[in-house]
Amino acid sequence: MAEPLAAIVGRPNVGKSTLFNRLTETRNAIVFDTPGVTRDRLFGTVEWGGRTFSIVDTGGLVPRSAERFERAIREQVGLAMEEADVVLLVTDVTTGITVLEHEIARMLRRADTPVIVAANKADNAARRLDAAAFYGLGLGEVFPVSSINGMGTGEFLDAVIATLPGTKAAAENERLPRVAVIGRPNVGKSLLCNALAGQQRSVVTSMAGTTRDAVDTKLTHNGVELTLVDTAGLRRQARVKENVEFYSALRTQRAMESCDVAILLLDSSVGLESQDIKVLKDAEELGKGLVIGFNKWDLVKKVTNTARDMEHRVRDRLPTLEHVPVMFVSAKTRQRIFRLLELALSVAEERKQRIGTAALNTVLREAARAHHPATYRGRNIQLKYGTQIQTDPPVIAIFCNFPDGIANPYRRYLEKRFRTAFGFDGVPLRIVFRAKSAERHGT
Ligand code: GDP
Ligand code: GDP
Repeated sequence: MAEPLAAIVGRPNVGKSTLFNRLTETRNAIVFDTPGVTRDRLFGTVEWGGRTFSIVDTGGLVPRSAERFERAIREQVGLAMEEADVVLLVTDVTTGITVLEHEIARMLRRADTPVIVAANKADNAARRLDAAAFYGLGLGEVFPVSSINGMGTGEFLDAVIATLPGTKAAAENERLPRVAVIGRPNVGKSLLCNALAGQQRSVVTSMAGTTRDAVDTKLTHNGVELTLVDTAGLRRQARVKENVEFYSALRTQRAMESCDVAILLLDSSVGLESQDIKVLKDAEELGKGLVIGFNKWDLVKKVTNTARDMEHRVRDRLPTLEHVPVMFVSAKTRQRIFRLLELALSVAEERKQRIGTAALNTVLREAARAHHPATYRGRNIQLKYGTQIQTDPPVIAIFCNFPDGIANPYRRYLEKRFRTAFGFDGVPLRIVFRAKSAERHGT
């Protein structure tokens, strides 16, 4: 289950991004590189009172000086209400309530999403008193905070945590493999998920006030139970294209963090785009299993575009992802969609694979004999011993005399040998080099 999501909204200059930075202390903050936006849009993680939630600063959705300013604000707030579990409205005690904030409040009062008001820039006792004015918004409790010096942010966070949905239902589904369908808007994620889930489509994580972003569907295929994470929920027609892309990137990020295997869906007639490459890299970094699905295969003129050509074009751009399986599917005609799902499930199994130490060392020895690592500062590197120190995702530690002396190409060579011997298709395989003796490994 993805973490609950809090969205920061408010007019420009009230201190949204300062508050965001204070709450996340910029740990884990992810800057989205969305083309055509005037400011970085941020997504991060907040830990407080034993809970963790995701937070997004939607400030970037509103250009600071645009003619269509009010419309942009309305869209920002509308999207936040739909996407988030709790909306954090940030206001400024030094200016009081503005006309625009009355309008925002009107929208927020109509929503089911809980709203918490932060009266920001309450840097001292006198200014804290001014916060009371914001009860005039009719949105419930107001928290004076200072994003600059941190005053009041503790009480504010307590209130945020109190609104978050519980995690009981999520725990029940925890052990099932989680397969997320990700990809750019319009590649066919919804259609695919609906086709895969078919009659079984029953939304499982309908905890009260639960996250609206990714819909979890529990399904059984050939006796295997799994949770399908559909990231395609954004159905509202946002007028600003960037907003749709922003939230779709946000969904993707969150679904990916919570899954075991991601199916990256592409539109066969479009192919791989830069956002897809970023997603693939993120998945690799997060240690998630990966499968690529070329969708809308029914639309491709097979004479000019063979599957092999298309696969080559993708592989050429992603040499480190050679091991990721691909499949050509049509969500519309349902061609091979269940084979795609089976592929994802087999990747989930591969990710849990544990290689016995003896077998691993046999491969390591043979690999080193066939191709020795280059010398390091005139010294021979000796690979002493290897062991898999983690599964799900897998990590292999190799103990040697000069761990810093192993160059990346050699690491990739070993990875290839391990993959040839043990599979791990679609699974990022981390190999780390350690100096410690084998007896004292484990860190
Ligand atoms: P945003 O447009 O809502 O994201 O606003 P910013 O975070 O960029 O802040 C706008 C201005 O308000 C900046 O000059 C900040 O330094 C200032 N500011 C933000 N929070 C506080 C605060 O708690 N106290 C004071 N005094 N100034 C603040
Ligand atoms: P999403 O935004 O990724 O969820 O994409 P949708 O599932 O909403 O699909 C976007 C559009 O592509 C819709 O009009 C679908 O009918 C169409 N579409 C999806 N998959 C296929 C496919 O395999 N073949 C064809 N011809 N059209 C498809």
